[in-house]
Amino acid sequence: MGCGYDQPRELMNPACEECGGACCETMTLNLGNVLTPDALKWFELHGKPHKFGTTLDCRCSMLKRGKCSIWEDRPKVCEDYPVGSEACWDAIKKRRPHKVEKLKYLMNKEADAE
Ligand code: SF4
Ligand code: SF4
Repeated sequence: MGCGYDQPRELMNPACEECGGACCETMTLNLGNVLTPDALKWFELHGKPHKFGTTLDCRCSMLKRGKCSIWEDRPKVCEDYPVGSEACWDAIKKRRPHKVEKLKYLMNKEADAE
């Protein structure tokens, strides 16, 4: 997620600012090697299974008003989360379907500026 609560506006990713943390409202886990087949079935029934694992609706407690409230101390997995990736678009389509066109525009604008 590219947008922190105390971060100066000019440092925020405009797409993330508009999106408000769709990726912070889900959690994807791959427990296929850890759980028994029966437990895995139970786990998958709670979420959406796909090729990377299972995605669960699970809002991060540190997401405040659409921004990360522990930006400087956020987990590395959040820091490395790729804006515009397949996972990012999955989250947007699921959690922010009304913002898809605006977010496409903002991401393209950002790419053109680089
Ligand atoms: S889903 Fe994508 S655009 Fe939205 S906050 Fe996360 S990384 Fe940014
Ligand atoms: S720690 Fe911050 S960036 Fe990571 S999921 Fe929570 S709100 Fe999002």
